[in-house]
Amino acid sequence: MCNNEAFGFFLGPAPVRPRDAYRPRTCDAMTASHLSDSSAPSPTLRVEDIRHSHDRDAARASARLSIGSTQHDVWFRVSRAPIASRADAWLCATLIPAMKLGAALQIDGAVGPRLLASSSSVQDIMAMWSPRCRRVSIRADRSDVEPRTAPRPAACFFSGGVDSFYTLLKHRDAIDTLIFVHGHDTPLDERDRLAAISQRIHAAARELGKSAIDVETNLRDFSERYATWAPEYFGSFLGSIAALLAPQFATIYIPASCDYNQLDPFGSHPLLDPLWSTDEMTIVHDGCEATRFQRVARIAASDVALRYLRVCLRDRGPIENCARCEKCLRTMVSLRILGALDHCRTFAHPLDLARVARVDTSSDETRSYVEENLRALRDVGAANDPLLEQALQDALGGLYRRGVWGWPVRAARLAGRALRRQGRSAPRAESSRAVVSEASS
Ligand SMILES: [Zn+2]
Repeated sequence: MCNNEAFGFFLGPAPVRPRDAYRPRTCDAMTASHLSDSSAPSPTLRVEDIRHSHDRDAARASARLSIGSTQHDVWFRVSRAPIASRADAWLCATLIPAMKLGAALQIDGAVGPRLLASSSSVQDIMAMWSPRCRRVSIRADRSDVEPRTAPRPAACFFSGGVDSFYTLLKHRDAIDTLIFVHGHDTPLDERDRLAAISQRIHAAARELGKSAIDVETNLRDFSERYATWAPEYFGSFLGSIAALLAPQFATIYIPASCDYNQLDPFGSHPLLDPLWSTDEMTIVHDGCEATRFQRVARIAASDVALRYLRVCLRDRGPIENCARCEKCLRTMVSLRILGALDHCRTFAHPLDLARVARVDTSSDETRSYVEENLRALRDVGAANDPLLEQALQDALGGLYRRGVWGWPVRAARLAGRALRRQGRSAPRAESSRAVVSEASS
């Protein structure tokens, strides 16, 4: 339902945000001083002046979050009403910051019994995972609601990336609506970029017979001051939006970032995310059963996904994936192994094997992605793509990162090896050599 005109109305006044506002910060000055001084009086994080309003089809929710004399005005705008009138979303938004502050949480509104009960489990988990999270008291009115009997559809948080498309395609029959959040991984002040991404998500949704809604929020401006985004907060960020949308959906999927083999304490986690469910709506943390390569394999079978895939978080304009960063490279390598890279038009450049060889694999996470791609390549027959196999091996060996060899020298050696292997029928060797040549020039 989003078009340019409606989108402009929906966005409202341009929010002010420094460009690097989303750089991780562990805590602000008040948090630090409180945490370091056990004799300091316990503060209270108070959620007050909670308001909800509707304007045409859109809806808005806002509240003032107060910690001592520090106040934050936090708001959500949703392009399609209705939104929940209870304060469930505000409990999701503030519980982990309150734990980081060691602050009693007081919510001037009513919260449903399911979320109030599960917030105790959230505190159990976070207090064990993070030494800086402490259990806190929660004071809020309890609001019992009649269970909804009318069937409602399912929705999915959707950014256009591998995890999002995987969950959407996996639950294609059940999911009715895609939720794109402005102010999640792209700051609110990048209005043109957000508008362009949103338009593409709406277009992808239409092609798959789905609808899409936009949620805009400045919540991250608040959370960045008190909690770290990925390790602690972003699941509750999505949980707060899901709670707001509870009247519209029975189930909301949060696409998993990791598979079961990669799970560590993390802000969005199969243990944590379902605990943000409300009496009306259940959150499902989805996709842990599939590795990154398996998710790409499902996407490779969808023309729509290949036309709209957006994996890059670099500021390369609204649409393009840079084809340079590690995330782009790992996705392109998987697509090439699957024989689908030529059908994916959203990368700005051809795959550069020299860059693949230089990927920094010193972190366990990145190393596991390279190893997985190498295993997949060998499963399909590495002899068909010897240059890609060599580039992945070099990345794992850290050869070029350590600067032992210059790439041109290495490329010449690889090209010679490829030529020798050509006699053993290597249908992909021609294209591989062309890419290497271009990358080296
Ligand atoms: Zn990129």
